[in-house]
Amino acid sequence: SLAAPAHKRILLKLSGEALMGDDAFGINRATIVRMVEEIAEVNQLGVQVAVVIGGGNIFRGVAGGSVGMDRATADYMGMLATVMNALALADAMDKQGMTARVMSAIAIEQVVEPYVRPKALQYLEEGKVVVFAAGTGNPFFTTDTAAALRGAEIGAELVLKATKVDGVYTADPNKDPSATRYAKLTFDEAISRNLGIMDATAFALCRDQKLPIRVFSIVKHGALKRVVMGEDEGTLVYA
Ligand code: UDP
Repeated sequence: SLAAPAHKRILLKLSGEALMGDDAFGINRATIVRMVEEIAEVNQLGVQVAVVIGGGNIFRGVAGGSVGMDRATADYMGMLATVMNALALADAMDKQGMTARVMSAIAIEQVVEPYVRPKALQYLEEGKVVVFAAGTGNPFFTTDTAAALRGAEIGAELVLKATKVDGVYTADPNKDPSATRYAKLTFDEAISRNLGIMDATAFALCRDQKLPIRVFSIVKHGALKRVVMGEDEGTLVYA
């Protein structure tokens, strides 16, 4: 189609779990390749894409292998897990013909370059995909909050929260066949209906900055492209 994308610059939040596919742990090759193909499609449209990647497929500061650990130490481990995912994602992007740059919120310079805002903006202007690793660089936060933070910092028009379900529903669509998808919602409606779209810190930051969030499915083929084309896909949360 000849239509132009609706967005110039987006921040895509991918959870670590999205990289697992049907595996119980780690990174599933076919899954990461499929996901990167979806990203390549929007990158080719000229949309500037920044990604915040999670780490839950490898380590979380609040569950699993971290039980009984000092919370801050466990959170640093979780942040390092996101660096591993970022490396895998950038590698898959490069193989797909994109140019990816990983920037870490934690100094780990032999592995990836540090996050420097003007440099990230320069890469985006050049059409490179920037993968933000190590979350916010602080324990007690999440990569959802990193997505809100980096999204605000780089002036993204939209935070795209990738999930397995294609939007926010009135009830769990897997349990309740009468559940319907919200096409859009205000931040206040999402809060009053207790819809738990992102964690409270991330959500508050987006709301304060009037940075809209779109929840969509990363496993639904073509959904990411439909979102950047401004079509009715997923659920928009707006101020
Ligand atoms: N984490 C952190 N600070 C951040 C981002 C992440 O301490 O700013 C840690 C935290 O332990 C978290 C883990 O990294 O559990 C993995 O991130 P997250 O749970 O957000 O990943 P996702 O659920 O998106 O895979």
